[in-house]
Amino acid sequence: MKTPRLPIALQQAVMHALRDKLAQANLKLGRNYPEPKLVYQQRGTSAGTAWLESYEIRLNPVLMMENQQAFIEEVVPHELAHLLVWKHFGRVAPHGKEWKWMMEAVLGVPARRTHQFELESVRRNTFPYRCQCQQHQLTVRRHNRVVRGEATYRCVKCGEPLVAE
Ligand SMILES: [Zn+2]
Ligand SMILES: [Zn+2]
Repeated sequence: MKTPRLPIALQQAVMHALRDKLAQANLKLGRNYPEPKLVYQQRGTSAGTAWLESYEIRLNPVLMMENQQAFIEEVVPHELAHLLVWKHFGRVAPHGKEWKWMMEAVLGVPARRTHQFELESVRRNTFPYRCQCQQHQLTVRRHNRVVRGEATYRCVKCGEPLVAE
């Protein structure tokens, strides 16, 4: 899969959206949470992922090129909300009530768990799973073993079993 070159204007628009939503959240929460790092290395079919320990948001450049507005309006707030929830509440369920509250009451964005994008351009060679602390990409082979009930995989960091997203 080739990674497209992202136009600077698009990167700036995404960065602007991130700063805007962060400022809004800090104002409402009365905090001064720092700005997460944005990286464009998400692969597979996920639009983006939030990495708690490294406090970064990884965005899928292929899907971002094809769904620019949705990334700015939805994907960036969605992943930012994961990081803010972690800062504000500690470890809680990834899309639980805290995250919903963060999305809707604080960031003012409808809380949808997933994004509906055309995925033809991103080869489906991995499957997104989650534990308590991060997202994992499982290979087709491992994914099939989970589906058939032959294996359970655990996160080496938190020790929790991986659950399909
Ligand atoms: Zn999420
Ligand atoms: Zn984990």
